[in-house]
Amino acid sequence: MLENNLKQVQENIDNACERAGRDRSEVTLIAVSKTKPVPMLQEIYDLGIREFGENKVQELCDKYEQLPKDIKWHMIGHLQTNKVKYIIDKACLIHGVDSLHLAKEISKQAVKHNLTANILVEINIGDEETKFGVEADGACKLVEEISKLPGINIKGLMAIAPYVVEPEENRPLFAKMRKLAVDITSKLSDNVEGVEIHLDELSMGMTNDYCVAIEEGATYVRVGTGIFGERDYSII
Ligand SMILES: *Cc1c(COP(=O)(O)O)cnc(C)c1O
Repeated sequence: MLENNLKQVQENIDNACERAGRDRSEVTLIAVSKTKPVPMLQEIYDLGIREFGENKVQELCDKYEQLPKDIKWHMIGHLQTNKVKYIIDKACLIHGVDSLHLAKEISKQAVKHNLTANILVEINIGDEETKFGVEADGACKLVEEISKLPGINIKGLMAIAPYVVEPEENRPLFAKMRKLAVDITSKLSDNVEGVEIHLDELSMGMTNDYCVAIEEGATYVRVGTGIFGERDYSII
């Protein structure tokens, strides 16, 4: 079952890239494995997937210990400042950075571990109830402030689009994200001396809308249900 799911997702990604005239290598599939047991992750690993996404620190650390070390772990959930120290040397990319406060702790832990932390700044594009993410208007300032911190590398932007019945509804939001990344990159590369900022990565698109996200420029798509099936939160 998982093999068929994965095949279908890969095929959809191939097709979306083709429609958009993009090279398949520009898009990385992150298998979002939250709540799923280790043997299921191993099965997907055996089918060739090396990038996994988790949204809880404890779960990421547990799975990190149990699965092969060549996996790239993406921290896709909201990260509490006091838990940064547990994942700083385990996550290849921290997707949900939306405050200077959190970025400072990531910077501090990265310096302490003598490494560079890769992060994405989370944008609140849905503009409704979602609590997380910086408003688009404040994103440039936040990126500029974070870029001055040591041990931290801002790779791009991330967004969680609202759940919609018709994925096309999210197309304008994805397009807005791409424009925002381009605008911030050009603005800051002109103005901030000695700091190289290239927001090349766009983490957007989930099971429901990753094809549209790819057509609008996503470089990371985060697919959970489409690969692993529905999540059962009652068992954890
Ligand atoms: C759970 C989750 C996903 C995956 O959602 P699906 O709809 O199951 O593909 C993607 N991104 C984030 C941030 C998530 O928390």
